Amino acid sequence: MDKRTLNKIIKRLNKLYHIEVRKEPPFEVLIHGILSHRTKDETTFSAQEKVLKAANAPAKMLKLSAKKIQKLIYPVGFYRQKSKNILKTCKLLVEKFNGEVPKTKEELMQLPGVGEKTSDIVLLFAYGENVIPVDSHLATISKRWYIADEKDKPEVIREKLHKLIPKNRAIINQLLVQFGKDVCKSPIPKCYSCPVEKLCPFEDKNL
Ligand code: SF4
Repeated sequence: MDKRTLNKIIKRLNKLYHIEVRKEPPFEVLIHGILSHRTKDETTFSAQEKVLKAANAPAKMLKLSAKKIQKLIYPVGFYRQKSKNILKTCKLLVEKFNGEVPKTKEELMQLPGVGEKTSDIVLLFAYGENVIPVDSHLATISKRWYIADEKDKPEVIREKLHKLIPKNRAIINQLLVQFGKDVCKSPIPKCYSCPVEKLCPFEDKNL
């Protein structure tokens, strides 16, 4: 897909969805990112609320046991591993980063349970950086629009999206995530009711 077509699609989606991007506290965004891997949004938000209510800062989290955190975040996917990662991450935040969530990708990637997507989520939603976190929705849409190849890893898709989308990445990211949840779903897209069907190059439409 070329830049012009992508811009037309973005304009159309922008009229449909009223997206606002607000900055959120870094520690909340970080915990959300760690919990969200292979977990539905509703489950992630509920677990995030419970665990942050119990401990809203790294030093406070270290006072909780792994068992307690497991109970609070259940039933997120891999809740046992994630509870350990939360504790290890909080320990590192306290010991190495003065209790603050770091602001660079390199430092964020040192934290247990934090990979490409979560580090970008923190940079985007906590620190307002112009980056696109590639989640499953973004990956699926990028492949259907032939922006990315079928075998591309998230970090490759990210670079390809960055080349096509130089500005306003926060809003565009949110538009595409919402569009992926509502219409361009996985595994079967709702092409028959898609507002950008005429602009979409996908060869295997579900019409
Ligand atoms: S036509 Fe189908 S594949 Fe293309 S954007 Fe719409 S839902 Fe996705």
